[in-house]
Amino acid sequence: MIDRIEIYVTKLSTRLKRIFSSGTYDTGPNDSITSKPVLVKIYADGVIGIAQIRPISPGHFVADTTQSMIAAIKEIYGPALIGRSIFDLESINEMFDNRLANNPAARAVLDIAIRDAQGKALGTPIYNLIGGSCQPKIPLEWSVSMAENVQTIIDESIKAVDEYGIRILCLKMADYRGWKQDVLHFEAVRKALGDDIMIGIDPNAGWSLTDSLLAIHELKKLGLGYIEQPIARHDLHGMQMIKTAAAGIPVMADEALFTIQDAHNLAQHRAVDVFCIKLYKVGGISNAKKIAAIAEAANIQLNCGGLAVQSQLEAAAAAHFYSSTPKARMMGAAEFVFGLNSTAKDPLCPESDFKIINGYVEVPQGPGLGIIIDETLLKNNTLLQEHIN
Ligand SMILES: [Mg+2]
Repeated sequence: MIDRIEIYVTKLSTRLKRIFSSGTYDTGPNDSITSKPVLVKIYADGVIGIAQIRPISPGHFVADTTQSMIAAIKEIYGPALIGRSIFDLESINEMFDNRLANNPAARAVLDIAIRDAQGKALGTPIYNLIGGSCQPKIPLEWSVSMAENVQTIIDESIKAVDEYGIRILCLKMADYRGWKQDVLHFEAVRKALGDDIMIGIDPNAGWSLTDSLLAIHELKKLGLGYIEQPIARHDLHGMQMIKTAAAGIPVMADEALFTIQDAHNLAQHRAVDVFCIKLYKVGGISNAKKIAAIAEAANIQLNCGGLAVQSQLEAAAAAHFYSSTPKARMMGAAEFVFGLNSTAKDPLCPESDFKIINGYVEVPQGPGLGIIIDETLLKNNTLLQEHIN
């Protein structure tokens, strides 16, 4: 039975800012709780399930903020979890739908913490509870920020390939100077890295339909790897037209996919080839597995997104989901490389075996998520703490 839930908002090691078409991905000033990660501990039957999610708003396409996550957990979801079994996840997710619909980041951190508790109670990694390990070694992708100067984009791309062995890059697109500038950026990175690196693009819904069709026509000549959410999230007919124009280059839904109902709708329209699953966006591992089933039935592949900035806990949750999915059902690689001490150290877990080796990472083997945080560092980095019991 769940008898206590603790919520912690924690500092990051370094402020991270990245540019994309609709704004700045910004983790904010160090002493402000806005945009900082939310960690929960769920106490049940002698174990403590722990998970962490950083809401990426304000300044991004997901509505959740640190403050909205805390309110949803403290006021609504948390009290409704007290007294429940950690194994009743289906009815817990039904409660999430009925009590306070949406709030995917708050749902996600609770869903993952409950799964961490299940794994610890049973002494087994989470992947064993969601289908077993299809892929113990997970390939990693690097999401490259937009920049004013093309050399900055080239330098970040070269660093990902040379320093970390990454073979798949995603270039942020929809530069304010127009789609032709985006094509110049792609061409420059392709020239710098050669033809063996897969390069996809993500305009984050920043292109019009005509921008998309014109840019894709040019990018196809430069070895375009995939196209992620070029246009507005609700324009499924536009995505169908882009898919036809892409002629076999995979088209992916990101902003268009939050819920299992979105997945069903995209599949019915045959609007995309790939679903981008981010645990903070879909509400955790439970919904991710349901969306994976819809994708499998519709012959749609999956991509595992979410940067997991400076959080091995957040990265590990995605790794367990990734590992439980057969290779043929995945496209591209996992995006959580920023959670693996690549741009800055995880402030709660600066050392671990969860490391990038030649562009890959191995799914953790310990019980639950398999990540052990340093309790002293948690205490020292906590900006705000709440509890429910
Ligand atoms: Mg995206």
